[in-house]
Amino acid sequence: MGVFALFATFSFLLFVGLSDLVVAQDGGISGPTTSPAASGYQCDPNRCKLPSCNCASASPPGGLDPSEVPQFVVFTADDAIQSYTLDAINQLLAQRMNPNGCPIKMTYFTSISYTNYTLVTDWYVAGNEIADHTMTHVGSPPASEIDGNLIALNTLAGIPLSAIKGFRAPYLNYTNATFHLLADANFTYDSSVTSSIPVTDPDTDAYWPYTLDYGLANDCLTTPNICKGQPQIPGFWEIPMYAFFDDLGEDGPHLMDPWLDAADGDSTVNNTATLDYMKNTFTAHYNGNKQPIGLYTHPIHISLTYPGSDASTANINMINEFLDWVQEQRDVWIVSNEQLLAWVQNPVPISQLDSFDALKCKTPDVDSSVQICNGIPANEAGLLQECSFPDYPFFTCYGCPQSEPSPSNPNPPQQVATGQQARLRLPANCSTPFWDPIAGECLCTSTACQYTDQSLPIGPNGANLTGGNPSETYQSMPTLVLFNGVPGDFAVRASGISGLVSTLILGIVGAAAGRAVLNL
Ligand SMILES: [Zn+2]
Repeated sequence: MGVFALFATFSFLLFVGLSDLVVAQDGGISGPTTSPAASGYQCDPNRCKLPSCNCASASPPGGLDPSEVPQFVVFTADDAIQSYTLDAINQLLAQRMNPNGCPIKMTYFTSISYTNYTLVTDWYVAGNEIADHTMTHVGSPPASEIDGNLIALNTLAGIPLSAIKGFRAPYLNYTNATFHLLADANFTYDSSVTSSIPVTDPDTDAYWPYTLDYGLANDCLTTPNICKGQPQIPGFWEIPMYAFFDDLGEDGPHLMDPWLDAADGDSTVNNTATLDYMKNTFTAHYNGNKQPIGLYTHPIHISLTYPGSDASTANINMINEFLDWVQEQRDVWIVSNEQLLAWVQNPVPISQLDSFDALKCKTPDVDSSVQICNGIPANEAGLLQECSFPDYPFFTCYGCPQSEPSPSNPNPPQQVATGQQARLRLPANCSTPFWDPIAGECLCTSTACQYTDQSLPIGPNGANLTGGNPSETYQSMPTLVLFNGVPGDFAVRASGISGLVSTLILGIVGAAAGRAVLNL
């Protein structure tokens, strides 16, 4: 009861804070943001080859014919992670399955302001991708905002540094320098640029994800000092955000939360018109080069559970109707960015998707009777610590910090009450569901005993080719968890995070040496 009372007390503040973060709509565009002349893009596919190099191209990777290519629908969410925002996502995805019977995974671009860390842990352990959206939600961010978010998510949510691969700039506001900061911190990809020209236009900028070996080819008309070969960062990936288009075509793009926009030049939202153009844009991708399409959400806008919510049930029903319809098409997969990128780096035809690891679902083998604070609700019940900071309280498995993490101090010392022992942060050689931060033990350190694959064969001849429908039994939480505990990855990642290396090393030494050090 204490937990809920605390949240009730602070709910008004949480609401205000979340609203502040999304008032300025991320990524509104009104027409094409690039052109062939502005991009000056040149890339030789004979020299730029997968898996580490891919030219910006409207055609599928690996020379595959579109008929052999699955249609990916990327699902992302941005900003704080709260129970309200996870409720909003669950009402769209929790009941669905991909063609192999696996629950849907998505990517959450997380800002730690107003975030409840323990829900980040749970969401990650359930198989979703946690990515970086800066600590305090600032556009054109300095390194401290990007790297500080990595450190806070690692220390207080137990997300392995190696698992945080992606970045999206708040307000989609980035510069040339942003990409270099991301590469310095060993990110794998950015997803902040816009695909703004329909796939049916010969000059479409709906490129499959590509590397920056030859610079960017998107947003060349709107962002200074990019394109014509810049920024040149070999092996670093860009996953464009693919707009939907209403009846106005390239003059009617809708990028994020399209359900909040009026369509066709109208002045009020019309769910019928929105559903219509979302289906039309999907069909253009599906019948063409199968470029991915994306639902890029700010889930707070469609959450019915936060106090004072004005979310529209009709809006939510429309999105579900769209997803139901999408899942009735053959070979459609709703995925996270990391799942999409795994396929692009190693594209296999539809006939081989059965054995494609990134699309499988594997559950960690942890008995539900074990009491361990590990991101699995059944295991961690009663073990969470409550960190009661005045502007927003949060919970964590990994010990409350003495002050709220900030860009200047992303990893404050742990607060340890008299007579209690400090908790131990996730080490690099254990993965989140197996790490006991109270005992300081890893339940399992070999890769062989850790996960059970729950994926089913993809049915022949279309027998099982569509995803589940919403009337099926609620599937609790998505369940894919990849093994991320590669020894040494912490040090490798840390070496790329400028200016904060000493903080990280101290954290790790503390964890290894024991509780006394962490008390400092
Ligand atoms: Zn944002």
